[in-house]
Amino acid sequence: MAEQLTSTALVTGGSRGIGKAIALRLAQAGYQIFLTYVSKPEQAEEVCATIRSQGGKANSFKLDVGNWDQVVDFFKQEIKRKVHLDVLVNNAGITKDSLIMRMHKDQWQQVLDVNLTGCFVCLQQAALIMLKQRSGRIINITSVVGQRGNPGQANYSAAKAGIIGLTKTAAQELASRGITVNAIAPGFIQTDMTAVLSAEVREQFQSVIPMNTLGTPEDIAEAAAFLASPGAGYISGQILGVNGAMY
Ligand code: NAP
Repeated sequence: MAEQLTSTALVTGGSRGIGKAIALRLAQAGYQIFLTYVSKPEQAEEVCATIRSQGGKANSFKLDVGNWDQVVDFFKQEIKRKVHLDVLVNNAGITKDSLIMRMHKDQWQQVLDVNLTGCFVCLQQAALIMLKQRSGRIINITSVVGQRGNPGQANYSAAKAGIIGLTKTAAQELASRGITVNAIAPGFIQTDMTAVLSAEVREQFQSVIPMNTLGTPEDIAEAAAFLASPGAGYISGQILGVNGAMY
């Protein structure tokens, strides 16, 4: 009889912010959690410890999603034939903001490498496994700025818009094998990524959010839990805005 593999959700960038909230929420939904980090092992381990203290299972792995070969190797070593990969959440992301006229090649390339290429290669490697399973849920974290643009974030907006095209294409390619692919487009969420913005910029953002308040990582985690749930089985290729009505 074939060995029963543990139902697992893989969350990239699960050490902090939105990824952490998603990891905690999917653990509550009963998945073993594999979460990745790149620079903060203590925070990643803290998230795992919280999950274990609540009776769940979790492991953290160092993985730079911007490094294609590292991602391929990670799936081969840690995922393939070792776990049943139910859910992939492509959450890892960075910003390197600058106006177009001042943007350096490195700022452009690093953001595209991590935010878009990283999302693609994780999706590709997960899909290879999910195709054999004939089931799986892929959830990509894009952004409202991938839909509407944002001055100073040409690199980030382009990468996030790319994720939207990737999500719709992957949804169509993988639909016949029981795999859904959706994206969540958060608005302005309270995390380390937005904490670095000046009070003036934060106020400016807040003024364009009709609900007049920033979102929380938990708001995004609830949307991810829904897209991973059995009830969302006929939803694919969608971009779910979680943004306080900011479009
Ligand atoms: P955050 O607090 O800055 O956390 C980023 C996470 O990504 C961390 O876990 C970090 O790991 C990981 N990471 C960074 N570079 C990585 C790499 N090269 N390889 C693998 N992991 C990497 O960010 P956040 O605000 O939670 O954002 C999470 C996602 O939501 C991102 O894709 C972001 O673009 C998107 N988003 C955020 C907002 C917002 O307002 N915050 C809005 C829209 C979309 P370490 O802890 O090890 O550094």
